[in-house]
Amino acid sequence: MRWGKSYFIALFILALHSSFLRIPEFEKIDLLGDINPAKHRDFDKLRSKYCSKESYLREEVYDAFKDMWKAAEEDGIELTIVSATRNRVYQKGIWNRKWLSFGGDESDRAQRILQYSSMPGTSRHHWGTDIDINNLNNSYFESGRGAAEYAWLQAHAAEYGFYQPYTAFNPYRDAGYREEKWHWSYFPTASRIQRAYLLLVNYQDLRGFMGDEYAEKLDVINNYVMGVESWPQIESQ
Ligand SMILES: [Zn+2]
Repeated sequence: MRWGKSYFIALFILALHSSFLRIPEFEKIDLLGDINPAKHRDFDKLRSKYCSKESYLREEVYDAFKDMWKAAEEDGIELTIVSATRNRVYQKGIWNRKWLSFGGDESDRAQRILQYSSMPGTSRHHWGTDIDINNLNNSYFESGRGAAEYAWLQAHAAEYGFYQPYTAFNPYRDAGYREEKWHWSYFPTASRIQRAYLLLVNYQDLRGFMGDEYAEKLDVINNYVMGVESWPQIESQ
């Protein structure tokens, strides 16, 4: 009788445990940017001193950024977020505008837009883990104040979990977007979302924008979503 009771308790605990294991860590809407960060329970609105416009990030990303911001400030470096979370509808606006203004052959047009802009549903900015800092031109970060800010980020961002996913092409990163010295990603969460993306998203999910057939033709999931630099500490090993 006693054994029977603990047997059922053990079964119950096992059932509870495995049902927890089956809950996906991220929902597909989170991966594809079909969210409103202002109403998402995992997101926080940023205080205006951290950003140049109304911005939202995942809570843990915001916490890490605040720590990094403070450390930078103590070193005389100012970090301002100029873009944080953008949903799929917003990205579709960017994409379709460029599609209409860029001329030429469609495949070539898609690849030229993809130098710096993502197809709707494939942007790391959908995830609430990625931020653009201070300026959207590489040249800004190559002299004066911008160079000092970039040097600080290269030296310290990893201490707070941030890294630059879009580095210059190199033998380990030979596909994807061009270099973006302004774009920084919170690795602890972004790497988990990236893994979920590869498992859950397919080309049927990437439709509903101009030239959407080029998502599959250009294999944007493998070449762009996955075409990122590895975490700095992996590199240095
Ligand atoms: Zn960016």
